[in-house]
Amino acid sequence: MAKRDYYEILGVSRNASPEEIKKAYRKLAIKFHPDKNPDDKEAEEKFKEAAEAYEVLSDQQKRQRYDQFGHAGMGGGMGGGGGAGMNMEDIFSQFGDIFGGGSPFGDMFGGGGGRRRQRQRKGSNLRIKLKLSLKEVANGVEKKIKVKRYVSCNSCGGNGAKNGTAINTCPTCHGAGQVSQVVNTVLGQMQSATTCPTCNGSGKQVTDKCDSCHGSGREIKEEVIPINIPAGVSDGMQLSMSGKGNYPEGGGVPGDLLIVIEEEENGFFVRDGNNVHYDLFLNFADVALGTSVEIPTIDGKVKIKIEAGTQSGKLLRLRGKGIPDINGYGRGDQMVHVNVWTPKKINSEEKELLEKLKASDNFEPSPDKKDKGFFERMREFF
Ligand SMILES: [Zn+2]
Ligand SMILES: [Zn+2]
Repeated sequence: MAKRDYYEILGVSRNASPEEIKKAYRKLAIKFHPDKNPDDKEAEEKFKEAAEAYEVLSDQQKRQRYDQFGHAGMGGGMGGGGGAGMNMEDIFSQFGDIFGGGSPFGDMFGGGGGRRRQRQRKGSNLRIKLKLSLKEVANGVEKKIKVKRYVSCNSCGGNGAKNGTAINTCPTCHGAGQVSQVVNTVLGQMQSATTCPTCNGSGKQVTDKCDSCHGSGREIKEEVIPINIPAGVSDGMQLSMSGKGNYPEGGGVPGDLLIVIEEEENGFFVRDGNNVHYDLFLNFADVALGTSVEIPTIDGKVKIKIEAGTQSGKLLRLRGKGIPDINGYGRGDQMVHVNVWTPKKINSEEKELLEKLKASDNFEPSPDKKDKGFFERMREFF
């Protein structure tokens, strides 16, 4: 099934303010909340859909990326990125942000049953910068990157307890990992939950601490992580790999590894979206007589033909020699700007020849309509 537009899901305009987005989501979250619509698959889908839309549109960076690249920009096929595939736990942990505190619904709609949701703690994210050449950007590339991160302790398996010793329920929160307090929110006064200060949210208390990790449940490790960079990424774009960030203290799930793309400067080309521009310098004799020249492209050298009588400033387009679109909509072009090289110094013999040529009628500029000026060309190409 094709994904619906996030703005459409929330029923807001593309230039909606963060406040409007929050408001729209709040409405939908209440309307489609599972506690209010028990065993209603459609409501649950709508609930998830709205949460995903909100997750992206409430984050300035994600929203920008979505505006630019659409759904395909959200994670770039690297799994777990963007808002794709949020589970219920993610959704409920999001409520802290829009309702100011924990999920208020347990109290609002609870009435019997009142499902209990133990939040799984998530470790912190890691962010790294990755430099790519234009060629790597154009073709996509697999990179192996070295990352120092917290992983679960090998000796205790991440729970922090000495091998085989008892793990008790936290006496403060009785295992919930959270303690309740009453707060004022937009929906009135309600019970809200915050992380238990005694156990830091794990809900457990270790009696005998693991010797290797001293009870933290984690250790630092250097890892080599292979990542597939899709073709067509651009400078500043952020890709995310879920579960490759830090393991949280006391157990839980690891955070994400965020990869920020940096594009290396290229001596030949200037990138403009999916097109690349290249300056070609030719001497006067070559443009007057016509020639063929070898020029670089991202994929290697190609030969191009220069017609006799080519004017300085002419733009040639090499179709499909640019950067592939990240969403798979074809490939950009290479634009070749023809510049006629004027010698900066000449000897007396050359001077004499030029004086002679200068007198010829054919050297008198007489542009016709085909020799379009700069603005005409701009209109044609952009
Ligand atoms: Zn340990
Ligand atoms: Zn506790």
